Amino acid sequence: MGIIVQKFGGSSVATTEKLKKVCNHIIKEFEKKNDVAVIVSAQGKTTDRLITEEKEITVSPNKREHDVLVSTGEQITISKLAIMLSEMGYKAISLAGWQIPIITDGNFGNAKIKSIKAETILDLFDKGYIVIIAGFQGINENGEITTLGRGGSDTTAVAIAASLHADKCDIYTDVDGVFTTDPRIVEDVKKLDMISYDEMLELSSLGAKVLHNRCVEIGKKFDIPIVVKDTAKEESEGTIVENSKFLENMEISGIAKDDNISRVTVMGLENKIGKTYKVFNLLAEHKINVDTIVQSFGESINKNLSFTIKTADVPEAVELLESNLEYISAREIICFDNLSKVSIVGIGMTNRTGIAAKMFEALYEQNINMHLISTSEIKVTVLVNQDEADNAVKAIHNKFFK
Ligand code: ADP
Ligand code: ASP
Ligand code: MG
Repeated sequence: MGIIVQKFGGSSVATTEKLKKVCNHIIKEFEKKNDVAVIVSAQGKTTDRLITEEKEITVSPNKREHDVLVSTGEQITISKLAIMLSEMGYKAISLAGWQIPIITDGNFGNAKIKSIKAETILDLFDKGYIVIIAGFQGINENGEITTLGRGGSDTTAVAIAASLHADKCDIYTDVDGVFTTDPRIVEDVKKLDMISYDEMLELSSLGAKVLHNRCVEIGKKFDIPIVVKDTAKEESEGTIVENSKFLENMEISGIAKDDNISRVTVMGLENKIGKTYKVFNLLAEHKINVDTIVQSFGESINKNLSFTIKTADVPEAVELLESNLEYISAREIICFDNLSKVSIVGIGMTNRTGIAAKMFEALYEQNINMHLISTSEIKVTVLVNQDEADNAVKAIHNKFFK
């Protein structure tokens, strides 16, 4: 007997028929005398629909009210699932984030979890309940509803697993594990039986949306094995995300792609100590997430500073920098849209040579231009035109996994 946390994503809970499959997975663990906490997403594309409907009212909604709106999808799923389990003869109870509570900071739309009152769930286990919890949501210290960012139900699930000291966290989704790349892009992908937290963290931060990157961080911190598997399969080993047990690693573990990236260049930035700091501090104060940064020296007393951001953040970032040109001592801001990040990730590259060259060769053979390159110990990222990104992934996949 142990504590099992299961999470079911939007496509897994999309219809009443699919909810029945979900119940089977829950009951199976419960019948093995486990305590079971279940985290669910909104059904199907509900969250997307809510956002579209919100845009019919305004493109710049009040952030507090935005979270009140988009958190509603999950509440529908928890109640339906609890009703269904009760009809099947099981004691089940639904909990919204505030009822536990899951306390977050006050950053609406991208809130971070500060604490979870695990006793609420443990008391319900003691009373024999299967506990069904709304993913993606919490409350801040003023009692206001917050959400954790798109895809955040994974993070709710692993955070709940950590707070309950669960044996593992099963993430049920629409693919049977983590593959060498997104199976929607490449046909002959290979399933990984195991991937380390560090590699998975890179892959999901670089665009592999199979897991929310923050859930991997929590899994690593609290040593919770995360198992990704297919809801449609009755029995599956899936992929386990845990500390690496391999003596030797493959060259790379996977390839990730992230679309809708823009490159912003601050031209003619005065080459004096503190100027670069001013640029990034401005962006940080406005909570604009900056990724790859490259600084080049084009002119004698000035430098050019390029960085990538999500295209959705471009209007705010450009407006902010242009209205502060004098303050940051720069000449102009140039922006380049419709780019994608394509990355290879693997612990194996730390002690091998020629991995980046192999990636660049694959791109060269397809005549794909790289706009920017950045590397770390276990990843190489290149920026390519978005309309060439799928081809880039396919070519790189062929090079490494054929
Ligand atoms: P859920 O709604 O269950 O949270 P998501 O759509 O968020 O599911 O994540 C699952 C999707 O992640 C898959 O359908 C797949 O297209 C995508 N994906 C991206 N990279 C990978 C990868 N390396 N392995 C498996 N799936 C991946
Ligand atoms: N429903 C939320 C979303 O679509 C959270 C999630 O599914 O993880 O982003
Ligand atoms: Mg997801």
